[in-house]
Amino acid sequence: MTLDSDARRKIGISFEFFPPKSPDMEGQLWNTVSELQDWNPDFVSVTYGAGGTTKAPTLATVSRFLSDTPLATASHLTCVGATKEETHGVIESFRNAGVKHFVALRGDTPAGVGAPYTPHPGGYANAAELVAGLREIGGFEISVSAYPEKHPESRDTAADIEMLKRKADNGAHRALTQFFFDNDNFERYLEKVRAAGVRIPVVPGIMPILNLTQLKRFAGACGTVIPTFLDERFAGYEDKPEERAKVAADVAAEQIEDLARRGISDFHLYTMNRAPLVSAVLSNLGFKREGAKGRGAAA
Ligand code: FAD
Repeated sequence: MTLDSDARRKIGISFEFFPPKSPDMEGQLWNTVSELQDWNPDFVSVTYGAGGTTKAPTLATVSRFLSDTPLATASHLTCVGATKEETHGVIESFRNAGVKHFVALRGDTPAGVGAPYTPHPGGYANAAELVAGLREIGGFEISVSAYPEKHPESRDTAADIEMLKRKADNGAHRALTQFFFDNDNFERYLEKVRAAGVRIPVVPGIMPILNLTQLKRFAGACGTVIPTFLDERFAGYEDKPEERAKVAADVAAEQIEDLARRGISDFHLYTMNRAPLVSAVLSNLGFKREGAKGRGAAA
């Protein structure tokens, strides 16, 4: 599944992390970052908690990325449950910490994914409005979400692409997708996105599978389909973590290689704040650790 050196040179990667919730997780995050930064990602991003309740951990984590690492760092930002003024206050705190790139999102209600969403009466109603607000403030790179298998609340794929178009028209620079495993479906989705006149890069979100059983629970809520081939690939490895990790690295590397063959060049990897699996995926693809030149260099 190794990519040839030409293909590797064209590939851009980004990593997603979440703010640690305990001192142990904090240690794990920074160990992970120190390992993964050697892959020289184009940028990393840090998620923002549901309900807007966790500005502080995201701000602390993003600030440390900016001060202690050489990594270009994006902060996720949601507008759920906040007035525009409150959201502007949050944007200002992140700007003061040095943030120049936001992943602009609507977010979910505190009741959780799937619960009916009611915009705050004085707030941004959705991510498209938030993007417009960020552009009005000015000076930020803006990424947004995209859903190849449609957002669980969306009427249909067309409604979803309509929202993506609004976000692009309002000034988003790229879309990062929800994770998916069906590349054929992604290709069909991308054709529809382009047919709708959306020109921004749509970067596949790649989720290396740490645990298929847990992922199935989580995927249901996100609307991601788990194809049966994954059951087949992981069958018999439930109690064999080492073999399971090898299969997981193979599966994710094969997905990236297949998408690269279809002309995709940028990939957003969900790290789950763990390094070994992500590093194994990139090694499988033939990348080297010594930075951007090394990533593209012949294996
Ligand atoms: P939007 O883009 O505003 O809308 C999502 C979809 O809902 C649209 O595609 C549209 O089809 C439908 N919709 C919304 N409003 C309307 C309308 N008025 N009419 C018709 N359809 C409508 N959540 C967090 O809390 N923190 C994070 O850090 C975070 N990071 C994420 C990163 C990525 C890459 C992705 C893909 C998701 C992330 N999420 C995060 C999850 C996200 O907040 C939820 O999926 C949320 O339900 C939708 O937010 P959004 O920005 O995608 O919404």
